[in-house]
Amino acid sequence: MPNPFSNKRKIVRQSASDGGKKSKRVKLRPGSDWTKRNFITSVWIPSLFTKRSGMRARPLFPKLQPGQISITWIGHASFLIQTHDANVLIDPIWSMWLSVIKRLKEPGFHIHHLPSIDFVLVTHAHFDHLDRRTLRAVAADQPIVVPVGVGRLVHRLGFNIVHELDEWQTIELGPLRVSLTPAHHWGARFLADTHRGFGGFVIGANSRSVFHCGDTAYFDGFKEIGERHNIEVALLPIGAYDPPLAREVHMNPEEAVRAFNELNARTLVPMHYGTFRLGYEPMEEPLERLRKSAREHGIEDKVLVMTEGKPVVL
Ligand SMILES: [Zn+2]
Repeated sequence: MPNPFSNKRKIVRQSASDGGKKSKRVKLRPGSDWTKRNFITSVWIPSLFTKRSGMRARPLFPKLQPGQISITWIGHASFLIQTHDANVLIDPIWSMWLSVIKRLKEPGFHIHHLPSIDFVLVTHAHFDHLDRRTLRAVAADQPIVVPVGVGRLVHRLGFNIVHELDEWQTIELGPLRVSLTPAHHWGARFLADTHRGFGGFVIGANSRSVFHCGDTAYFDGFKEIGERHNIEVALLPIGAYDPPLAREVHMNPEEAVRAFNELNARTLVPMHYGTFRLGYEPMEEPLERLRKSAREHGIEDKVLVMTEGKPVVL
């Protein structure tokens, strides 16, 4: 009999997943010449003196017809996805600081201007994706979906209906189908909590679909993700590819273009750049490199660069 006083009971783990490409934990040993540069003096200190850009305005969320999708970027990996029937937040972050790292771009609008949120998805437990303060503010008895091993972290923040997914598992959430996809990254929020999963999400709404890649290094799983889920819009990370410890944990813009082509998706929305300085690369470089690579591959017209807080209807 379920114990109504047990916190664990509310975290539902799906049954075992089928075969297919698995997530792989990346090697976390620093790259060979990481000591040649100093992240604190060359990136972190200058960023403290950088003026925050962007603005917050009252958002104009569109009234959607059945079959339409609206996407609003909040900055970094954070998005509001709206369909006619549901509002979904992915990796929401409104915080102005990631611990000691300054947010350099406004989220576009105040969190209290969000519409009511039906579902929340969190791709992994890293601080820039699982933001406690934001999740606490958003929690209102709606279901949350996370990779295996992340449930307890979000349950604690006020989410009472927690679904943990393993790679390739799918859950039906009202009018939506949400699947966890594999990635090459890692899931520990601290150091020893290596049991935590990580990945991306495909959100299906009838015939429409949006893929949020989560964080990943480039790997050979994109083709299979595209084959299993007919992906229309791909939200792909393009920044933090030159990280302090020179580890290969994030894709660069050229790899994102390659992933996009392998996914066989129709629209590429870049993310994970311009909000927090997490790597040595200059702030404007990811987008410049993405545009150049997209031109070279003839997919320029498929790239949709978003502005924080401005919904785009597709
Ligand atoms: Zn991460």
